[in-house]
Amino acid sequence: MFKKILIANRGEIACRVIRTARRMGIETVAVYSEADTNALHVSQADDAAFIGPSPANQSYLKMENVMEAIRRKSIDAVHPGYGFLSENAGFARALRNEGVVFIGPSVEAIESMGDKIESKKLAQAAGVSTVPGYLGVIADPKEATKIAEQIGFPVMLKAAAGGGGKGMRIVRSAKEVEQAFTSASNEAKNSFGDARVFIEKFIEKPRHIEIQILADKHGTVLCLGERECSIQRHNQKVIEEAPSPFIDEATRAKMYAESVALVRKVGYYSAGTIEYIVDQNKNFYFLEMNTRLQVEHPVTEYITGLDLVEWMIRIALGEKLPFKQEDIVLKGSAIECRVYAEDPSRGFLPSSGRLVTYQEPKTSPNVRVDTGVYAGGEVSQFYDAMISKLITYGPTRAEAIDRMHAALGEYVIAGISHNISFLEALISHPKFKEGDISTNFIAQHWPGGFSGATLDEWSKKVMLAIGAFAYLKDARRAASISGQAKGRPRQIGTRWVVGVDEEFFPIDTHETKFGMVITHNSRQINLITEWVLGSTLFQGVIDDRIINAKIHYTPGGFQIDYSGASCRVTVRTPRVAELGKFMPATELRAKPMHLTSPIAGKMVALKCNVGDKVKAGEELAIIEAMKMENVIYSEHDVTIKKIHVKNGDSLMSGQVVMDFG
Ligand code: ADP
Ligand code: ADP
Ligand code: MG
Repeated sequence: MFKKILIANRGEIACRVIRTARRMGIETVAVYSEADTNALHVSQADDAAFIGPSPANQSYLKMENVMEAIRRKSIDAVHPGYGFLSENAGFARALRNEGVVFIGPSVEAIESMGDKIESKKLAQAAGVSTVPGYLGVIADPKEATKIAEQIGFPVMLKAAAGGGGKGMRIVRSAKEVEQAFTSASNEAKNSFGDARVFIEKFIEKPRHIEIQILADKHGTVLCLGERECSIQRHNQKVIEEAPSPFIDEATRAKMYAESVALVRKVGYYSAGTIEYIVDQNKNFYFLEMNTRLQVEHPVTEYITGLDLVEWMIRIALGEKLPFKQEDIVLKGSAIECRVYAEDPSRGFLPSSGRLVTYQEPKTSPNVRVDTGVYAGGEVSQFYDAMISKLITYGPTRAEAIDRMHAALGEYVIAGISHNISFLEALISHPKFKEGDISTNFIAQHWPGGFSGATLDEWSKKVMLAIGAFAYLKDARRAASISGQAKGRPRQIGTRWVVGVDEEFFPIDTHETKFGMVITHNSRQINLITEWVLGSTLFQGVIDDRIINAKIHYTPGGFQIDYSGASCRVTVRTPRVAELGKFMPATELRAKPMHLTSPIAGKMVALKCNVGDKVKAGEELAIIEAMKMENVIYSEHDVTIKKIHVKNGDSLMSGQVVMDFG
């Protein structure tokens, strides 16, 4: 067994690897940059090595620094996690030259699968079906147009060195080719230092389904089922599940056979994933092979009962896999939600900052949270904006979804933008529940971005009950401390008008020992709760259904988040509510006078000029941050009065970019 391993990564995946290594009795060494001095993975490891300044290319991506730490700490083996150096053949080679074990595949396997053009050629040679396209580097927009016309639009331009959904553009007509080619190759050059681009057919409304494999150095190759990762935004995965609700036994068997053929062709060992795009008729086409542990591996761990990190370590040690394909039994259903620090209402713009509140749902054998953050800690602007992965398991897909719904409801994050409400809306969507999904799902159902789920009757009832209960709790506390004789609180009425956004409900309240009974239109709503004033998480039972919601104080009312919806809830006496009708409606979201940069980054393209009238939803600018181009849309109809920056300028978060007139 290894004595000491170094984890050449950060965040949740470093913590994840440490957990298994510790269980196996292996000492762990973390690496960290300046920004990560107080990070969770550093405190969880037995030892840690500083590897440089915050930007990844000066620390986590800087091979010399990582190698120096490996020498200094006398390391036996290195686990690379995902991202960073995990698919860098040069890193695996450097380790081999030092006599340190790389917990992953061979240098040659990484090399042959690391390039999307080369890997597609190899896949074809192994008899794997690939997406129709042209297997070569495209020189310029002219050649791109010619080939695209041969293949037939729509096509997809892709970076040969691509990853993380970057460096790819859909092109629907000849006139879009030039711009798409330039931006795809620029993004590829910035992200991967390699501008090469190729073309393949764009498959409409496909599903992304991938096969997890595990292979040892002795010729055993096992398939551990598939994962469906069709719920994506910007070609990046958001929700993954295993098994796929779309795949039948026969298709699975075919996907297994082709995956095994490819694995054997490249002499692959360790854990790896072969990604396919699957069309409506269950035809599947090879996309790429990821020669590393995948972000969404926990769903596979749930349905197979295997610890993939443990088997990567054992395979790296030269152990033989003690199972056969027949021993791999897929049991139940698991779902993973990626909890991101981002704003779903603003084009999923990444956010960063301090986690003022961070409260995870109760974990259990059926609920797992993989994270690298803690309450009071920071989500850094330097790295991927993933806060955590929330994974749930159930004997059936419906039960896994129900558990996910409850767990998301219990998850409290404040201080930065996050996508929890959006995830709640996603998994509650009837089409998602039916398994009727594609990679187009988010764009199709939320074309203008997500700004809260629409309220159904049940959610209104929940909002109303929570608002009334919280208001009365608060009123009672205020009465008892307002100088009245002890034990004789001021009279508090029982008739109210509750406003849920713009709708108003007259109610009667009756407080009970365990909660409250609310009468509205001679119907009763029965709330049972142990909620205490001041806590954000509101848990209870309403009419026999368990509810998890979040409540925040706002001037003159509450904001309540429940099941993807977010409402402003007010509670007034009937008289005050009546008077309120005569008050001028205040604009809830006042028009801003400036555009401030929502992130630190670089101004790539201003999309407007002084004097332009820009409508809500139209583009104002493109800001590059975290190597991604982020489009900034106008939230209101505005006129551009002044522009303070020019293309190429660096921007600080919060910096004024333009004034509106
Ligand atoms: P996986 O293939 O494991 O499911 P993804 O496809 O989401 O993971 O991402 C592929 C790789 O790109 C991962 O190793 C991840 O670390 C990295 N990655 C994902 N999103 C980003 C991002 N926004 N910026 C930088 N790297 C990213
Ligand atoms: P990455 O290395 O960034 O993960 P992939 O080739 O795996 O790149 O593609 C990422 C996602 O982009 C896929 O999951 C899919 O949603 C979409 N995609 C890629 N190629 C195609 C294609 N030819 N047609 C339709 N969608 C595609
Ligand atoms: Mg991929």
